[in-house]
Amino acid sequence: MREPVRRRRWIFLLGVADLVLLCLFFGRCDSDGSVTACVEACGPKADVVAETTMQMDEAPECKRIALTFDDGPNHIYTEPLLDGLKERGVKATFFLIGNEVEKHPEIARRIAEEGHVIGNHSFYHVDLSSLSAEEAIFQVSRTNEVIYEVTGQYPQYLRPPFGRSHPAITCEQPMIEVLWTIDSRDWALDDVGTVVMNVIPEAEDNAIILMHDASSTSVAAAFSIVDNLKQKGYDFVTLDEILSP
Ligand SMILES: [Zn+2]
Repeated sequence: MREPVRRRRWIFLLGVADLVLLCLFFGRCDSDGSVTACVEACGPKADVVAETTMQMDEAPECKRIALTFDDGPNHIYTEPLLDGLKERGVKATFFLIGNEVEKHPEIARRIAEEGHVIGNHSFYHVDLSSLSAEEAIFQVSRTNEVIYEVTGQYPQYLRPPFGRSHPAITCEQPMIEVLWTIDSRDWALDDVGTVVMNVIPEAEDNAIILMHDASSTSVAAAFSIVDNLKQKGYDFVTLDEILSP
């Protein structure tokens, strides 16, 4: 009479082991890396084996995507954006203008302290390709210095304004130039829904989304994009995670 009871226990334990493995698998998708949350979501139900088999078939694919924000720090919009990203457990990359960092160092410092990556977006937001080599290098090097003075870190990435760089920068500045793969066009639109729909259908693994922390439309659209793509299994990461091999 004991044998069936023992067998049932083994089946239950195997079911629990499957559940833990499944939750570890799903846990990789969570931006907070929380396996506990996944265990709670899966729930220690009775028909564990059957449920785990079904959920394995429906498992969301782990995909990474990067939000990037240009033109900050903005004294009106950057901090509400940081608040919402923190609530959602999302890290992003901010390409800052050196001149604006000088005006609002406390916001730039907060960006760094909250785990976001900071990149260089020139000192006066100028078309670098229109400048002399000396002027273009100044735009980049001065911004690097200002960001270092405020955050203690030199930026690794450069996004030239308007996507136009200068050949002298490649020679003189050991930086990685990064553009984008999806343009939200938030800089040209004041309709949140349109900005969101410029991004969602284009989303794919390792995509880089261009946005600006320069309007309430952009901030609201960013939150909507995060909420939507998280439901589709995307993990929001900083540029270094997208670009590192
Ligand atoms: Zn810009």
